[in-house]
Amino acid sequence: MPELLPYFFIGIITGIGITGIFGAIKLTRWQRTAAELERQLRSHSFELQITLEELAEKNRLLQQQTEIDALSGVFNRAYFNRQMQAELKRSRREQRPLALVLLDIDYFKQINDNHGHLAGDQVIKTVARLIQQWVKRPGDKLCRYGGEEFALILPNTDLDGAAELAEYIRQQLHNSTQQPAVTVSAGCYSAIPTTQSDCDEYINFADKALYSAKANGRNQVQSYPPGQRRISPERTGELHEH
Ligand code: GH3
Ligand code: MG
Ligand code: MG
Repeated sequence: MPELLPYFFIGIITGIGITGIFGAIKLTRWQRTAAELERQLRSHSFELQITLEELAEKNRLLQQQTEIDALSGVFNRAYFNRQMQAELKRSRREQRPLALVLLDIDYFKQINDNHGHLAGDQVIKTVARLIQQWVKRPGDKLCRYGGEEFALILPNTDLDGAAELAEYIRQQLHNSTQQPAVTVSAGCYSAIPTTQSDCDEYINFADKALYSAKANGRNQVQSYPPGQRRISPERTGELHEH
């Protein structure tokens, strides 16, 4: 049967050819499917990335809302409490002084009475912005403690340093041209925290100093314990470093 051999080979070659053509078609389809899958994957991971970025931004805004006072734009009371706890622990561990300054706008009720509540709000906003601008260290935190009262948390700062910064703020505000004109009184306290120390201790003593600044005529800085240090306004030009 040698005469059938050519047919046999033709048959085999045709078979291979047909298989090759189908194989090539299948391969092209697979390649297309793979390319399509890859495209879809890229597009999904891009969408996922956008969603994650949006989520991170929403998280940031949410975090900001829980930390920032809506009117003044500085840290709020809840943040103050948390930050004081953290700084008390850190300062005790590192055996460094932690200072607290309470600043209260003088005769603020008169501003509300004479110019209206909205003008009063504007004053709170402006005073916060100005104080923030004069506080230079990143670790120093300005918080709105109450209505027209601010708290400055100053890590690694002794009583002199706290009083100097408070005096600088007081004087800058006194000299500023903003209308209506306002002044602040401030009370300072500083200590290396012990295991007994808590936020109340700082608030109580800084508040006592603030009370004596008010009682002594306002527009001034006092420290606790009393008589520890009181800076004369003439010295304050160079006193913003602490
Ligand atoms: P002092 O010099 O003793 O601090 O007198 P003061 O008038 O500043 O203090 P007082 O505590 O008598 O009045 C504070 C006023 O601040 C009373 C309150 O109505 C007003 N106040 C509190 N929170 C806000 C606020 O968010 N906006 C405005 N406009 N007023 C506020
Ligand atoms: Mg006041
Ligand atoms: Mg007050």
